[in-house]
Parts: sequence; structure tokens; C-alpha cells
Amino acid sequence: MNRRVSAILSAVLLITGLSAQERNDIPALRYDENKSLTWEEAVSFYSDLDNRYSEATLLEMGMTDAGRPLHLFIISSDGETDPEKIHRQGKTIVLINNGIHSGEPEGIDASARFAADLLADRNGLKKYLRNCAVAIIPVYNIGGALTRSRYWRINQNGPEEKGARRNTRFLDLNRDFVKQDSRDAKAFAEIFQLLDPDIFLDTHTTNGSDHQFTVTLIATQPEQMHPEMEKYFREKMLPELYTRMKEEYGNEMVPYVQYTERGEIKAIIGFEEQAYYSTGYAALFNSFGFMTETLVYKPYNERVIGTFQLISELVRFAAMNNREIIRLRADANRHTLDAKEFVIDWEQDTTRWDMLDFRGYRYEETTTPITGRKSGFYNHDKPYTETIRYYNYFKPAITVTIPDAYIVPFAWEEVIRRLEINGVHMKQLQHDTTMTVETYYIDGFEPARRATQGHYFNSNVKLRTVTQEVDFFRGDYVVPVNQKSKKYIITMLEPQSESGFFAWNFFDSFLEGQDWYSVWGFESHLKELLDHDPALREAFEKAKQSDTKVGTDPVAQLQWLYQHTPASELEKRTRLYPVSRLMRAGNMFNAGN
Ligand SMILES: [Zn+2]
Repeated sequence: MNRRVSAILSAVLLITGLSAQERNDIPALRYDENKSLTWEEAVSFYSDLDNRYSEATLLEMGMTDAGRPLHLFIISSDGETDPEKIHRQGKTIVLINNGIHSGEPEGIDASARFAADLLADRNGLKKYLRNCAVAIIPVYNIGGALTRSRYWRINQNGPEEKGARRNTRFLDLNRDFVKQDSRDAKAFAEIFQLLDPDIFLDTHTTNGSDHQFTVTLIATQPEQMHPEMEKYFREKMLPELYTRMKEEYGNEMVPYVQYTERGEIKAIIGFEEQAYYSTGYAALFNSFGFMTETLVYKPYNERVIGTFQLISELVRFAAMNNREIIRLRADANRHTLDAKEFVIDWEQDTTRWDMLDFRGYRYEETTTPITGRKSGFYNHDKPYTETIRYYNYFKPAITVTIPDAYIVPFAWEEVIRRLEINGVHMKQLQHDTTMTVETYYIDGFEPARRATQGHYFNSNVKLRTVTQEVDFFRGDYVVPVNQKSKKYIITMLEPQSESGFFAWNFFDSFLEGQDWYSVWGFESHLKELLDHDPALREAFEKAKQSDTKVGTDPVAQLQWLYQHTPASELEKRTRLYPVSRLMRAGNMFNAGN
């Protein structure tokens, strides 16, 4: 009864001042009744706020794979929607992304409630707009949201109906932030590049664990930040968020529970971040990134309220610390530009940890009711609190020296397009040119046996660095590294990067061979070659003596000869990674080349 009344009350608050006709068209938030906004309802909810408040603007930004545009809702005290102007006013920008996995919709409802409360100045929220602007993507995965069912995420405790995890092309958008196979991710990147948010939140639901907490939090891997930003993050921002959730709302939060072994949770390990996840993408641009992961077994309204509380706290923090956040990010951006080395792969530092109070449930054995399987379960009748280790420190695994520029041949159109979308400035060569550059030969790699995200992901890349002269052509792209998107450029173009274009198969065609030779025709050319090249003849005779296979096997002899004549020059490029590293660009970028 109470629930029903409060839902009606909040609906009444929202529709004050509207005509009876309009009143019927505006969807109410019904998370108290275990219901979540559909995509259409979310758009009409924000469109109503846009109509009623001068501070609010609903924009259409770019197309998605669902054939519908991606919306962005901006709230700023003076109705300004130009992010550059908002930054110039000394305000921070908080960007909240919802429904990336549209079966995990608490952020969709929580953000709608937050926007309505903020604009109506409930609980004095509006004062935060003096120092902060809020940008909300109402529903990111629109394709997923359009295919609603009560059966998706079958383990999840509500809402009644929810969208699907994957988008229209069956892509998981939380793996698509850098490779951008979907139109959705390209539209997102354009929004992110435009806003340059100081704080970024991506809202989710987790079924990976069970415990007493409603809200679990993934925060950007601190080491990805500039040291001063990392210190601020670890020592001020994160502790304040955790403390406020506990003390202001009595809703204690815990880091995302990634446990070390099944069963009772003995330790939590930090989230090893890749740039293809949302927070990893944010880290490439020195934003403070977060994912909320609310617990799937908690009632839907509690998950929405928990997400709402964290959103409120992020906006509060962004408003109260605007100067410090802006200064830290500016320092971090300068530090990024100065850096001579970059870590492209991290590993857990198992020698360091923090301690935290974990409120879990005892893990017990049971026999399941339908299949009779022996299984473990978390007994909700046996809650406990224990102090456990939280391993949230990482150390560099692969570090690269940073070149002055990368050179990407004109041919790799998909790569160039993605660099552009991510704010990378490039120049095309005006003339065919030969330059001395650092190149990589790919000596080994392991393609995945099964497709992930439509790719046979390449990992465990072994390479060899060779400095040599390479011919480039007019139109090839020179990508200077010292620019705002520096971390994106390096992450995507280094072949050992797990988020990079090589890992995601963009460059696979160069791994195949070129022409080779046909045994019938080749031998007639060989006599001429050997007659004109005594050194080659001598080396061939030596090889026959020293290598038994070459000495005895005619096919091996042909193979040896092919590999030692200019005919195989093209073959030598087979494993030569197409992107070159220009270590010293000199005044190349000043000369207007
Ligand atoms: Zn998710």
C-alpha cells in the first residue's frame, strides 16, 4: 500500500503544471512496482523535462545499430550545452551511461529519477549545478532495450521485463569501446570526445557473487592515472564515496566482488581493466571512471535507489571539488604529453593489498530441488562480517617506449576511421617518401579458437623490433603521438596491447603470404640467377653441405633458393606489422608537410 502511494506521489510531483492532455503522455517511474522504463518511455520522460526546464536539453547524437538515434540529456544551470563553454566556466562534467546491458536497467530508472529531482531541486540538489553539469545517456543499448522479455537474465530479481544484454548485432557494447564494431560505440565515442567528462559512470547489475551488499563498485584501475590523480583517487575520492554511502544512506558499498576461489569469499581482487571496457576507455582520457554493479538478487527498487544514491554522491563530489578535479586532470593531461614510456599491460601485484570489512553469507552444501545436483549456496540465514584482503594494486607487465609518431598506411581505412572518431589528429604524406623507422615483425601469436564479439582475438604476441628504411606513399597517415588522445593511439596501435587493433584482427591479412613460386617455372630462372651471383652460388653450396635437408631434398633446395633471392622480398614483409614507429620526427609536424 505504502509503495503504491509513494509511486503515485512522485508521479504527481513530476507532472505539476501540465495540462490534462500532457499528463497522460508522461510516463511515471515505477521501479517501486518492479517496473523499468522502456526506451520510448525514457525518451519521452526526458523530453518532458526538456520542455519544462530551461536548464535541461535533450539532444540526438549519432545513429545506433538499432536504426534509432542515441540521445544525450544535458543539465546545466544556464542551459548551456556546449561542453567547451561549460568547462571554461570552471564546472566539472559528469557523464552517466545507462542500459549498456539493457537487461541491467537500474541506471535507466535511477538517472531519470535523479534528473527529475535535480531539476525540481528536491533535497537541495540544484545547488550542485553551480559547479557541475550533468550529462545522461538515457539508454545506450537501444537494440537490446527494444527486445524486452520477462525471461532475460533469468536469475535476476526484477524488474518484471527487461532488455537483452547484446545489441542488434549481438555485440556486447561493454567490449566495444575501442574497436567500435557497432554504430553505438562510434556514437558514444563522439559524445565522450565532445564532453570530455571529468567523471564517468556506467551502470550495471552483477550476478557474479552473493553477499549482503546492494551496490558494488568498479573504479578505474588507479595506476592508469597520473600519480597525483591516483593518490587523490585512492586517498580522498574513493574513501569519501564509500563513507558517504554508509553514513548518509546506511547503504554500505563494497568494491566489485571478484573472488579468488569459489565458495566462501576469502579475498577480493581488483578489476584488471582493459581499454575495451567503459572505465578503461575513460582512463585513456584521464577521466575518473566508475561502473556500479548492483547485486542481481536484491529487489529491483533497492538496486535503483542504491544507483540513485551513488549518482547523487558522484555529482555532489564533482560539484564540491570542481577546482581540484579540474586541476588534477589538467596535470594528468600534461603528464601524459610528457611521458616517454607507456604501460600497455598490467598484472596483479600479489604482494600488496588493503583490508576491508566484508559482509557475506556462509557458503554451504545442498542438493538442488529439481536436478538433485550437489551444489554450494550462500545461506542468507547465516550472515557474517569478516575482514578480508582486497588486492587492488597492479604492476607493469609490458611497457613500450613512445615514438614521436606512428605511420599508418592509407590502406587501413577501418583503423584510420576509428582514430578520427577518437579525436586523433593526423597528417597525410604529400609525397612518396622513404624513412628510417622502427618496425615490428610478429614472430608468434595465438588466435582464439572460438570467436568472441565476432573476432578471433589474437593474444600472446611475440615480436621483434627492426630499425630499417621503409617506403611510404603519398596519402599514408602520420599520427603524431603527443596529442590529447595519446593513450588511445598507443593502446590501439601497439600490437601487444590486448585492446589494440592487432588483437581484434584488424591487421590479420598481413599475416598471410604473398605470391610464393611454382616449382615448374622457378627452376628455369634459377640458373640465370646463380650464374650472375657467385656469392649466392657459394652460399647455396655451403647450405647443401651444412644442412642435410637442403643437401638431400630438391624441394628444400628450391625453398632455400627462394628465400635467399630478391624474389622473396615481398614475402619478408608478410609478418612485418604495417604500422611503423617514427622515433624522431624532427620538425616534420612544424613544416606543414
Ligand atoms: Zn553489465
